[in-house]
Amino acid sequence: MKKIIIALDGHSSCGKSTMAKALARAIGYIYVDTGAMYRAVTLFAMRNGVFTEQGLDAVALEALMPQVDVKFKLDSETGLPLTMLGEEVVEQEIRSMEVSSRVSPIAALPFVREAMTGMQQRMGEQKGIVMDGRDIGTVVFPQAELKIFVTASAEVRAQRRYDELVAKGESVTYEEILKNVQERDYIDSHREVAPLKQAADALVLDNSNMTREEQNQWLLDAYRKAAE
Ligand code: C5P
Repeated sequence: MKKIIIALDGHSSCGKSTMAKALARAIGYIYVDTGAMYRAVTLFAMRNGVFTEQGLDAVALEALMPQVDVKFKLDSETGLPLTMLGEEVVEQEIRSMEVSSRVSPIAALPFVREAMTGMQQRMGEQKGIVMDGRDIGTVVFPQAELKIFVTASAEVRAQRRYDELVAKGESVTYEEILKNVQERDYIDSHREVAPLKQAADALVLDNSNMTREEQNQWLLDAYRKAAE
């Protein structure tokens, strides 16, 4: 089997990261969650007063960008990557509703995308990587050997995200989550730089009515075909 790059793109909350992690573990590849990188930049922006009453102060964030140090560290217990901002583990904090509701405008800023895209390309230099995001197959690795575009209906995605957050003890309503999912879809698909869109040569995986096991099997089959 040859070592390849696997690009997994798609809408918010469609379970991309869960399936990407499972695939990476099954085939011994490195897993990179690029959404976590945009979330970490958002958390940095929130902590540094970039969100003002007048809105997002992009000029201030651009000046602060050299200080943004996003990286991953492997959790020695689970073997999974933890998102770091400087030396701080921010894995939990970046998944909050507050970060979710602010991340799309941050991810639409060209200077933020440029910085993250450069880092992601360096991470994939040796191949053997599963990267999940929005623009991996179109912008970050247009030459990826396997591109998958994952989707599911907004309602199914909102319900999954709701169940996840409630299980973590966050007090949220299904309606606010559905609104957040729809808003992120809109901003992610309509931004000028690197919008979410299906690469012409991507395989589509609509998992609205699939179990986790079915998705994992589907992905393994797609990987075997692409890497043989
Ligand atoms: O994947 P996740 O939902 O955690 O991503 C959070 C947000 O980061 C997305 O809604 C999107 O705005 C942004 N994102 C992006 N490009 C990527 C990955 C994520 O713009 N490659």
